[in-house]
Amino acid sequence: MSAPHLTPDEFREQGHRVVDWIADYWESLDGLPVLAQVQPGDVTASLPTALPERPEPLEAVLADLDEHLVPGLTHWQHPRFFAYFPANSSPAGVLGDLLSSGIGAQGMLWATSPAATELEQVVLDQLRQALGLPDSFARDGLGGGVIQDTASTATFTAVLAALHRATGGAARRDGVPGGAFAIYGSTQAHSSLLKAAMMSGLGEGAVRSIAVDPETQAMDVTALREAMAADVAAGVRPVLVQSAVGTTSTGAVDPTAAIAAVAREHGAWLHVDAAWAGVAAVCPEHRWIHDGVEHADSYVTNPHKWLLTTFDCSAFWVRDRAALLGALSILPEYLRNPASESGAVVDYRDWHPQLGRRFRALKLWTVLRTYGLSGLRAHIRTGVGQAERFAALVRADERFEIVTEPVLGLVVFRVVGDDDRTMALMEALNASGTAYLSHTKVEGRAALRLATGSWRTTDADIDRTWEALVGNLPAT
Ligand SMILES: *Cc1c(COP(=O)(O)O)cnc(C)c1O
Repeated sequence: MSAPHLTPDEFREQGHRVVDWIADYWESLDGLPVLAQVQPGDVTASLPTALPERPEPLEAVLADLDEHLVPGLTHWQHPRFFAYFPANSSPAGVLGDLLSSGIGAQGMLWATSPAATELEQVVLDQLRQALGLPDSFARDGLGGGVIQDTASTATFTAVLAALHRATGGAARRDGVPGGAFAIYGSTQAHSSLLKAAMMSGLGEGAVRSIAVDPETQAMDVTALREAMAADVAAGVRPVLVQSAVGTTSTGAVDPTAAIAAVAREHGAWLHVDAAWAGVAAVCPEHRWIHDGVEHADSYVTNPHKWLLTTFDCSAFWVRDRAALLGALSILPEYLRNPASESGAVVDYRDWHPQLGRRFRALKLWTVLRTYGLSGLRAHIRTGVGQAERFAALVRADERFEIVTEPVLGLVVFRVVGDDDRTMALMEALNASGTAYLSHTKVEGRAALRLATGSWRTTDADIDRTWEALVGNLPAT
């Protein structure tokens, strides 16, 4: 038999059915529990262990999706998904992603699909300007932007570029000697910094966790200065300092300008991790979060969190692309081509760990154009407004307290009294299926996080979540 590829007309018909499925799914979410209510192994037990010998129709796949998989999903596009940070998959993002899948271009080199590379350069420069990021990141100078799969990868490449610069290129040839280098982030830095240290060969021992201000949870710059001086005195070379703009735990914003001044004294690379918060700077009133970013060597923010772009899409810029390319460029014979050799083009394979890459710029471009800056600002403002609405409810109820001042779309709060009640409340709420919140620890004490910013959340969802919280309060 011949392979059963769909004809274009069959694809058209089945494609419409899939789009209908997605629209129905979104409409059904309000009535579904946010958090998957299954036990480990339940999904596995519902699926066959072997592949079918004969081709199956799409209907069979959709039927199993409905019956066996949807109950095992935690619904990230649910209007009352408030855990972690949002991972918005807007209609525009889905459609742009679909176009990218259909085109199926592999943009590892400019020559393997020129439009994929050039659109990525153009759209990242548009986004850079929209976020008020410095001209030093622009592609027409020494810098440039690239879409990475995740902020974790962006931070990893920042560490590699910083090591390349610090060692004059020796790191890529000889590796890194143990104990010779240090990198710095606050105690609240995302775990991807630690992972980058592990993957780069620096080792976990190279990471210095700098104390934070107990109230704001932002990095204590005096502690940073002391740690760097102590390393230098001990013969350890500071390589990179990370400033977190919007930490995962509480949304704390590190003082980037002051951190930059200390980093500069030691010639260390300054990386800004604004994975969640950075996109809020499309609104002029939130642009303060980027104070000091003009001193950064690299910067990352995730359109795949708050900015409506289907995962994965992480925007990463560098001031000096030569350091990044120096760390990561490769040129095996089978990739040689006249365009690369002319030096006139960007080959994105040299900007990240992997070779192959998707045409992610298309979904980002689809989102940014079809929302427009006004639409993007409206979306961010809705999320911030809903966080303010929720924070006001918390403040007005003496059984609850705000833990850290809310930042943008993140409210960190707890039940007054012992931590067990706070955790019991979260577990009861999440088990009820009404809403989904996650937790953290602040200064050693339990706290709940409510992160707004989903494209489907309304004020009524905030109120309903508050009522469910109050209704599930454990007895004293
Ligand atoms: C979410 C987050 C990350 C990790 O993002 P990925 O894209 O999933 O790697 C890193 N830093 C901060 C501050 C984050 O909020």
